[in-house]
Amino acid sequence: MFTCIECGEQCKDLYSTFPNTGILKIEHCTKCKQVVDKYIEFDITLVFLDLILLRLAAIRHILCNRDTGNEHWKLAFLCLFCDGYMKWISKNAPSATIDDRNSTNSEDVVFHAATQLQLYVMTTVSGLELSLFIFIVLFLCYVIQKLLVILMPKLPSVLLFSTSKQIVFNAKKICQALLFANCGKLLLLPAIVWGQSSKHLYYIIAHVICSSTVSLSIVTNFSYAVTATISVCSFVSILYLQPWTNSMFESNVLF
Ligand SMILES: [Zn+2]
Repeated sequence: MFTCIECGEQCKDLYSTFPNTGILKIEHCTKCKQVVDKYIEFDITLVFLDLILLRLAAIRHILCNRDTGNEHWKLAFLCLFCDGYMKWISKNAPSATIDDRNSTNSEDVVFHAATQLQLYVMTTVSGLELSLFIFIVLFLCYVIQKLLVILMPKLPSVLLFSTSKQIVFNAKKICQALLFANCGKLLLLPAIVWGQSSKHLYYIIAHVICSSTVSLSIVTNFSYAVTATISVCSFVSILYLQPWTNSMFESNVLF
């Protein structure tokens, strides 16, 4: 089954083919009467741009209607490297911090960083934090799913569910959604290269939390209120665990 990217209704097909002619006909949603998935005609670059802009339709297309293969893993590794580089530069290159707007040697700093072992250690720390974030989200989703049995008669359904009252707990789908939601960290690239203010990091964090909230709601059917709570609690937990993960690597426990 596919999903209408406009209203979230389940649809049988994205398009049909006229016999003998090979002409394709894009299917329309039976509920909202709009095209089920306009993004099947779009180039992946345009889809990705809409994903960065947090367009709900683009997120539904990626998570529900597109066979992404290993794209989410490739994207995750790229984001981890950006995150690791940001950690490395904040610890080891104070003279070239992102606050230095007058810096003209950003490219030199990038090439210097690529030769440093500690950059890859920082990338590993980022990977560990992302793994913990996904684990905490999965744990909270599982617990809240069980609590719904108790909460359902006491709270209005609009506070608990999005498009359907059927909660889905698919660990693989949730992981995939969180890895795509992490794509906001790619915005670190322009921040690094063009020397943006560190205040922009807060916007990137907000982007990742908002993206996680929307993506989780799509794959689980929890309401935004529930998924926003899960995303914020998981992120705050990671902030509390950050000193521990950093000290673990800095004290050479693992290396
Ligand atoms: Zn629809």
